[in-house]
Amino acid sequence: MENAVGEVVARSSRYETAPWGVTNQPAFLNQVLCLATGLSPEDLLLATQATERQLGREREEKWGARTIDVDILYYGDRQIHSERLIVPHPYLPERRFTLVPLAEIAPDFVHPALGLTNRQLLEKCADTGEVRRFGRG
Ligand code: AMP
Repeated sequence: MENAVGEVVARSSRYETAPWGVTNQPAFLNQVLCLATGLSPEDLLLATQATERQLGREREEKWGARTIDVDILYYGDRQIHSERLIVPHPYLPERRFTLVPLAEIAPDFVHPALGLTNRQLLEKCADTGEVRRFGRG
């Protein structure tokens, strides 16, 4: 990721999380990175999709088991609704597995559409899926 998109400014611990959506499948590992990138949002999406392909993601079932999934959660305070890209990510407020690592590295960052910090979004989140630190982070 680093070479493909820019510099990693912060990275969360890794978390083992209960499957979301399709629940009869193995646990996932989740991590949030904060990047400084010179790429436009659309080019960033193309780069992350190329990384997914390189790492051998096979897209079979929506929300199903897969090797790698990269989502763009925020792009600064930009709000984007294009055919291919919605930013901030539309499921961000609903997923503990996103909010726990986000709140670890950027607790006070304000969601540009909702006006709440990541910490506040986590406090409000009704998702009860288990999110535990994996290994030493
Ligand atoms: P997924 O199967 O969850 O990886 O979804 C990938 C699809 O979601 C791609 O076709 C993207 O064009 C679209 N998409 C929309 N918004 C985003 C976003 N914020 N981050 C990543 N993919 C997005």
